[in-house]
Amino acid sequence: ITRDLDSLRSLPCETLDGHQLPLWVNTGLLADVQRAQQRGAEGVGLYRSEVAFMGTSRFPSESEQVEMYRQQLEAFHPLPVTMRTLDIGGDKPLSYFPIKETNPYLGWRGIRVTLDHPEIFSVQVRAMIKASAGLNNLSILLPMISGVDELEDAQQLIQRAWHELTNEGIDVQMPQIGVMIEVPSAVYQARELARIADFLSVGSNDLTQYLLAVDRNNARVADLYDYLHPAVLMALQDVVAAAHTEGKKVSICGEMAGDPVAAVLLLAMGFDSLSMNSTHLPKVKWLLRKMTLQHAQQLLEKVVTINTPKVIHSTLNAALDELG
Ligand code: PEP
Ligand code: MG
Repeated sequence: ITRDLDSLRSLPCETLDGHQLPLWVNTGLLADVQRAQQRGAEGVGLYRSEVAFMGTSRFPSESEQVEMYRQQLEAFHPLPVTMRTLDIGGDKPLSYFPIKETNPYLGWRGIRVTLDHPEIFSVQVRAMIKASAGLNNLSILLPMISGVDELEDAQQLIQRAWHELTNEGIDVQMPQIGVMIEVPSAVYQARELARIADFLSVGSNDLTQYLLAVDRNNARVADLYDYLHPAVLMALQDVVAAAHTEGKKVSICGEMAGDPVAAVLLLAMGFDSLSMNSTHLPKVKWLLRKMTLQHAQQLLEKVVTINTPKVIHSTLNAALDELG
């Protein structure tokens, strides 16, 4: 297996008919960096900034954050690193910033918290931008966007942070700004969001949870939590179409992207990159290198005519078993 990993590492994720699909990784801790590089990641599609915040006893200062972000940006340079702004609330608590709610997944989380606390947001984006000076491989990704206003407010704060830094004499590029599509309203507004943002990235974990009204961490309803549900697949196709109509790139960074069977469908849908836990990267690459884009598209065509997740699973498994 180790030898297989080694030989795959330097090969591109390219289908038999020559279609390339960059495979990115999701990171949080610095320890993820080495594993990602060993597996040949072509960039970071999701750096979960809240992971570092969960390991401290107070909000890290701007200079502490600069250091954290610089390590990630430097480690992957010149490859792109997509840093998500703080996504706390829901299932991600900070001991020093308690949020008590009866329904946290529908409550104060992600961008909602940071727009209500622009001082937290501004320090964070200043630190990200500052850390990217001289590297310029940073993109900023906004979690839990449910409409255009939140995107515009966040964009303004990021613009302001960049102007401040420039006025302070720091020579740094304005980063690209992307929107996570993980709330159903964002699916329906994907075109508007894509017009305003620089790129989109689907968060299939939350999108599945919210589209199907199934708590992503509740074992009792785990059978119903399925990103291969036809409604989820339809939403994903709409998001890709919306992004591409606006000439913007669209990635996906939920667990779904690391499932080889699902990755085949994502390839067929036209996603521009897939971002996953690095553990899954070799097997996704291995499978996509054994496929043609055309074969994947035929599978997708078949799958979208099926109206139940169960039959979608059996159809995909049967088709992919033939490939070994
Ligand atoms: C997602 O929701 O799919 C996602 C990538 O973000 P998180 O799992 O951190 O909520
Ligand atoms: Mg999410």
